[in-house]
Amino acid sequence: MRIGQGYDAHRFAEGRRLVLGGVEIAHHRGLAAHSDGDVLIHALCDALLGAAGAGDIGRHFPDNSAEFEGIDSRVLLRRVISRIEGLGFRVGNVDVTVVAQEPKLAPHMAQMQERLTSDMRLEPGRVNIKATTTEGMGFAGRREGIASYAVVLLEER
Ligand code: MG
Repeated sequence: MRIGQGYDAHRFAEGRRLVLGGVEIAHHRGLAAHSDGDVLIHALCDALLGAAGAGDIGRHFPDNSAEFEGIDSRVLLRRVISRIEGLGFRVGNVDVTVVAQEPKLAPHMAQMQERLTSDMRLEPGRVNIKATTTEGMGFAGRREGIASYAVVLLEER
């Protein structure tokens, strides 16, 4: 078995869609990024790549490349899964924590879980997503942006 962890944070920006866990969430602003800004999926991709000893998301999908401008992060996740499968691993389970003071994520959790499970070609029950505030402390607490942590376990096939 191999373990990996990932972290990412993006700043809120006006005039952007908010996309988290592959789900578009109605909100008055989104996250600034070269891609769609899906901070949850970015942390998850880093954890997957880390567990496989395959570097990080920036190495695979450079943020100065026109190819990845505005890209749906679910496409990146599917590519990362193909990559780690190609290296002889399969996902055991993933656990993600989103740190956000706003918006409320509970109503979207099931759909996020469903989409990530499908993108990673997993059976149900292997993807867990959690959300927390920081009770007003730090950049997430000041509503400057959203951060995300991910831990994954890979199994060698
Ligand atoms: Mg990112």
